[in-house]
Amino acid sequence: MTIFLIGHDFKYETEATVKLFFPAMRFAFCTEDAPCAGDFIRTVFTEDRILVETSLSGVRRLREASLSPDGDKHAAEHTLCRTLYAHLTEATGVTPPWGMLTGIRPVRMLTAAVEQGSTLEQAAAHMQQTYLVSEKKLALAKATARVQLPLLQGLAPDAISLYISIPFCPSRCSYCSFVSHSIAEAGELIPAYVDCLCREIRIYGELIRALHLKLDTVYIGGGTPTAISAQQLAQIMDTLQSSMHLDGIREYTVEAGRADTITREKLEVIRRYGADRISINPQTLNDAVLRAIGRKHTAQQAVDAFLLARSMGFDNINMDLIAGLPQDTPDSFRNTLDRVIALEPESVTVHTLTLKRAADLYAQGERQIANPAAAMVDYSSSCLPA
Ligand code: SF4
Repeated sequence: MTIFLIGHDFKYETEATVKLFFPAMRFAFCTEDAPCAGDFIRTVFTEDRILVETSLSGVRRLREASLSPDGDKHAAEHTLCRTLYAHLTEATGVTPPWGMLTGIRPVRMLTAAVEQGSTLEQAAAHMQQTYLVSEKKLALAKATARVQLPLLQGLAPDAISLYISIPFCPSRCSYCSFVSHSIAEAGELIPAYVDCLCREIRIYGELIRALHLKLDTVYIGGGTPTAISAQQLAQIMDTLQSSMHLDGIREYTVEAGRADTITREKLEVIRRYGADRISINPQTLNDAVLRAIGRKHTAQQAVDAFLLARSMGFDNINMDLIAGLPQDTPDSFRNTLDRVIALEPESVTVHTLTLKRAADLYAQGERQIANPAAAMVDYSSSCLPA
């Protein structure tokens, strides 16, 4: 599809709004007005108006809005997005549940407004009026904010969180757009990476002491931190322990990630160095879906990894799932979630699949994944309390 941007430079905002309706479609952008034979979205700024014209499957539509005369760029951007959003809602029959919100965690918007003096109700009303968020999602965002606010308000001004990345995985998942390398291709880099990381951890330890900061949480993520050997993981966690004050931190997480990397030996390392939370991330417990996304482990291996961790005394385990994976269906997702809940992890995180340019699936032109993610997310909301 071609997107015309005539007389303005709001490319990012235009694309983000269009993607709400065409999530995995690729676009060509054109800043010159020209005839177009296929589907297109034309956005035009004149001196005092915004015109949005679409041709979708041969049906043409036009919408106009007035531009504020004061030339305010932020207001112009918002008017463009709102006009485009209203136009595409009508043209496609789709009403995105999070309204026009893109590129921001909705709850962050609420908690930031509360930090600046609004009440939660005022912040939520503003979010709904400005971004047209549905009642259901607004209620979810408020419930989540109510959980988060006491934690955020309890943060000392000198508190910091540390994130350590281990950018290696046993193989690359087809939906992945993270900075991570498959061990088959880049495994020889791991020893040097671990050495450099340990050097950096020591430098950060000195900085934290010099600046009198207080470490509040640590998260070792990736990639897949357990993709490296138990000895390499121990080297990193030992360096962390000797470089920073870990006593009294509120949470210390290691993302154990993929089931095919989790061993008793690595879990022992994690426990020995004091991490009190792990995340085991099957994404799905459907073997066909696991194969479709390029995972090399089975659902049973993910369950076994969880049971092993539990038997070793881990009492704070998160499990990540993704709604909308290729070949997944609402029934199979429901089955996955029910099995995960039956394991009684302390938390479950449900992500929604987003294909970004770095993902193999995106490169393969996977644009119209049959994506019943909304039904999966609804089911998750109904069985997982905030
Ligand atoms: S486990 Fe995560 S980081 Fe690793 S390839 Fe898969 S999606 Fe990417």
